[in-house]
Amino acid sequence: MKFPTVSDPDHDLVVNETFGPTFQGEGPSTGRYARFIRLFGCHLSCRWCDSAQTHDHTRYDLDAEQRILSVEDILSWLDTGPTGLVVITGGEPLLQPRVVERLACAIRDRGLATDVEIETSGTIAPTDTITSAVTRFNVSPKLAHSGLQRHQRIRPAVLRGFAAGGKAVWKFVAQDPNDLDEIHDLVTAHNLHPVWVMPEGTDSTTVLTRMRLLADPVLARGWHLSTRLHTLLWENDRGR
Ligand code: SF4
Repeated sequence: MKFPTVSDPDHDLVVNETFGPTFQGEGPSTGRYARFIRLFGCHLSCRWCDSAQTHDHTRYDLDAEQRILSVEDILSWLDTGPTGLVVITGGEPLLQPRVVERLACAIRDRGLATDVEIETSGTIAPTDTITSAVTRFNVSPKLAHSGLQRHQRIRPAVLRGFAAGGKAVWKFVAQDPNDLDEIHDLVTAHNLHPVWVMPEGTDSTTVLTRMRLLADPVLARGWHLSTRLHTLLWENDRGR
């Protein structure tokens, strides 16, 4: 993927879409009133990616999927609605660290969100400024079924950095209970807590079926189970 150049990388974001209000659909904040900023671009290529429009030129017209917005554009949009959770997602948001830093700090300083979450693959370390500005990182290290090579998806030093920062929760995408041993090995090797297991799927039938398969084995390991609330409610509609 060729990442677009912006004239001012401190003030301009390459965005795929902004949407909401909606509900946070995944992880510890599931069900919260939220608005989303989905940034363009990802350096990975998970075979089941649910936001491939941010980077996959074989399936999407990437020129049509990206737009440049300034930090002020985003702040103005956030200022139009009730304050709630703001989720910065992607793609991989940490590919644009300087401007994400400015955005996260500005949201906090202007009181435009009660909380700010960043969703990330855990392969790029956040800056200290980003870490101090956000409430939480929803870090989602990828398993072997992503189709990625291990060295692409697991960066031990980055995982250790997130864990040491104290703001990470670990959200693993699982297809069935056989994936839980692989999660256990990562959790143990890198001291990753708390753990959330989320079913992979982009339709409600798959999500519910996999949640039912995962529920008891996840409970037995003392972990948390996430749904994909937006998928249960609205299937694979974009912008929800
Ligand atoms: S890291 Fe996320 S955005 Fe990137 S390819 Fe994987 S699932 Fe898609």
